[in-house]
Amino acid sequence: MGILDALKGIFSGSGSSGSGESSAGFFFYVRCPSGHPIRVWVNRSSDLVQDFEGDTIGGYMLTKHIVCPRCYKKTRAEIRYDRGFRETSREIDNGRFIDASEYEAATGGSASPGA
Ligand SMILES: [Zn+2]
Repeated sequence: MGILDALKGIFSGSGSSGSGESSAGFFFYVRCPSGHPIRVWVNRSSDLVQDFEGDTIGGYMLTKHIVCPRCYKKTRAEIRYDRGFRETSREIDNGRFIDASEYEAATGGSASPGA
């Protein structure tokens, strides 16, 4: 029993809130063609596709088709990463990339309620 309680403490205290970045994935932010701010979750294990250079992994590629929840316009974002998950390039069709602070300013800072 004591061990289980200790494990529960570890999991519940692992900080699921915060910067929005974890080992499971991370967020990026875009504006749709109409200018609405959208936060997009990237799941590292399901959204990142290995980008092979010959027989070795040269990096990862992320392609996201985003539908704006407000105006339903579509945006397509493509981001490439190297093997260390450092971003190497990004492209977007329709809309544009923004950063977290611009998203929070545009949404009234409600991106992380609570605290
Ligand atoms: Zn929109």
